[in-house]
Amino acid sequence: MYRFYFVIILPECVQKYSFIETFILIKHSYMKQASTIKRAFSAMISLFMPRFCIVCGRELSYSEKGLCLYCLSGLPLTFFWDRIGNPAEQMFFGRVRIERCCSLFFYRGDYKKCLYSIKYEGNVRLGEYLGNILGRELSKMVNAGTMPYIDYLVPVPLHWRKKWKRGYNQSEYICKGILKGLCGDLPHGRHLNDKPQTTEICTKLIKRVKFTESQTTIMHDARWRNVENAFKINRNEVEKILSGKKTPHIVLVDDVLTTGATIEACAAQLLNAFPCRISIATLAFAGG
Ligand SMILES: [Zn+2]
Repeated sequence: MYRFYFVIILPECVQKYSFIETFILIKHSYMKQASTIKRAFSAMISLFMPRFCIVCGRELSYSEKGLCLYCLSGLPLTFFWDRIGNPAEQMFFGRVRIERCCSLFFYRGDYKKCLYSIKYEGNVRLGEYLGNILGRELSKMVNAGTMPYIDYLVPVPLHWRKKWKRGYNQSEYICKGILKGLCGDLPHGRHLNDKPQTTEICTKLIKRVKFTESQTTIMHDARWRNVENAFKINRNEVEKILSGKKTPHIVLVDDVLTTGATIEACAAQLLNAFPCRISIATLAFAGG
């Protein structure tokens, strides 16, 4: 009876595998079937509800996410992760002390539409997807020793009125993507390169207390005054963080780096509040 049960489900297991191995094989076989069903379902949905590439407008296949493969391969990458003292880091020289600064792609041409879609059209999945690609590059930097181990990912906060109006903070979704990229798609807490992956997203550390105009609509020199005293540090979170590590390495995450005024204000507040090291990661680079 016992053997007969296995013959029906997985005939090849009877001769070769123990009970535990057979159980694992059955589980994998069902998981494989589940992923096939999921793919078939996605293909069916794309028949009735086609999705389009944000950049070129071509219809996406079910396996493409946000961008078509053509536009993804043409993404104007910055390669800042390969250069210490890259143009993004140079922007902060003499302004605020940071460890590293890294952006994924240059904010130019039709790729500007990606940021618009993430920020104003609720396309948070694209934010997560591009964040994931950035996370993989940050992971390489950490493994190569050119960036300290990342303890916390902190999204640049929105004022509650702006968040309420928009419904979400795009930087939080970019953080989620980065975290996935850092873990190499492993479930959180799994080991990567023999080191436990303990990076966390911390959304309560900084609060935006000043409602400011959109940074894109005001003049270059007025941006710093606009964000002055705009942020407040949450002392409870600081105590929680310091109980785990003495000088944590925090990566501030935003969608685009333009003049760096907002991120500079955030970093300065954090450095004044407690001993920490700050790096910056953004999807796009519009400075220089
Ligand atoms: Zn495209």
